[in-house]
Amino acid sequence: MGERNAAIIGGGIGGLAAAVALRRIGWRVTVYERAPAFTEVGAGISLWPNALHALDRLGLLGEVLSRARRELAGGAKDRRGRWLTRVTSDELERRFGHPVVVLHRSRLLEALLDALPAEALRPGEEVDDVPRADLVVAADGLRSTVRARLWPGVRPRYAGHTAWRMVTRPLELAEGAVLWGRGERFGYAPMQGGGVYCFGTATVPEGGTSDDEHAEVLRRFGAWPDPIPALLDAVAPEAVLRHDLYDLPPLPSFVNGSTVLLGDAAHAMTPSLGQGGCQAIEDAVVLADCLAGAGAGDDLAAALARYDARRRPRTQAIVTRSARLNTIGQIGWPPAAVARDVAVRLVPGEAVLRGMASVIGFRV
Ligand SMILES: Cc1cc2nc3c(=O)[nH]c(=O)nc-3n(C[C@H](O)[C@H](O)[C@H](O)COP(=O)(O)OP(=O)(O)OC[C@H]3O[C@@H](n4cnc5c(N)ncnc54)[C@H](O)[C@@H]3O)c2cc1C
Repeated sequence: MGERNAAIIGGGIGGLAAAVALRRIGWRVTVYERAPAFTEVGAGISLWPNALHALDRLGLLGEVLSRARRELAGGAKDRRGRWLTRVTSDELERRFGHPVVVLHRSRLLEALLDALPAEALRPGEEVDDVPRADLVVAADGLRSTVRARLWPGVRPRYAGHTAWRMVTRPLELAEGAVLWGRGERFGYAPMQGGGVYCFGTATVPEGGTSDDEHAEVLRRFGAWPDPIPALLDAVAPEAVLRHDLYDLPPLPSFVNGSTVLLGDAAHAMTPSLGQGGCQAIEDAVVLADCLAGAGAGDDLAAALARYDARRRPRTQAIVTRSARLNTIGQIGWPPAAVARDVAVRLVPGEAVLRGMASVIGFRV
């Protein structure tokens, strides 16, 4: 069988992970990225055990861990800073084989790019027409033009709130958390090198912006419990990014002919579970698993059908689960928020871990 070739549209986490995965099974890949360089926004990303397993399958676990900080724990606190639920990395590792880690997005991209030859990468090339190739991987994100062409009726839906993301200058901080307020959340996680990745969310109408997003974040979160005021003091005003949050209604298929959707293009989700990027990495590994050994024609169609069958139910269930957690986390009515906090505090740690197992304990 001759060398098969894949055109990958989009050089984010999903597209680059797919490129690494396909090269490992002997495909020639070309990654088209419309931005002039392969870059990510200035924010952190959490990778859960399922993503670390998938990165191990790509041969990149060591590369990613060397750039990441192992979190002591993950969990939620109430608006006054008291733990509602807390899961340590030690427990995660014991049960699922890996901890949760956080790293700067650019460092994750760097680990993926280092595994690819320069000739596979085409920055500054926006794809309008689906390129000719044995396989086209649409990894072109939430606003995927490939998806819009194939399924014009399936459009991203606004999650009801916006998110600010920022990275502080280096600070001493032992562990991260997410505080659940009323219609607002604020999370922080220390990264390697001392910078702390922070994010805030607020229930607001779609499309809002402020002239000064740093001032807006200070106004909303500046009086929240420690260490939040100190974190916000350590953020450069221009480092504050704001994006409205969306997810994607279920697509009837991730495959059309020899075109396959992957990552946010296929299943954009709200970030409550920290799984969008993790699922894109899983997609890449499963796609290569399904294609390994597949020839032309029917073989390729059968391999892509297997990819769709393995990925669509799982990722669409996680989209729904993330949306549900999002709704709970963003509760705005004070009595409901108090009831939520009481209920969450009563759930035993063991039950929390059991509940997370199908998402973060998954091994591709
Ligand atoms: C606030 C927030 C916090 C998050 N936190 C986490 C987290 O902690 N953990 C986690 O796992 N996930 C998290 N996510 C989700 C994660 O960021 C996404 O799921 C992930 O980045 C998706 O990667 P992707 O490659 O599919 O898409 P993208 O990152 O959107 O990449 C798509 C790429 O395609 C390019 N492109 C688009 N159209 C074209 C075209 N026509 N031609 C060429 N190039 C094109 C774009 O420029 C872009 O580079 C978070 C998301 C948000 C919004």
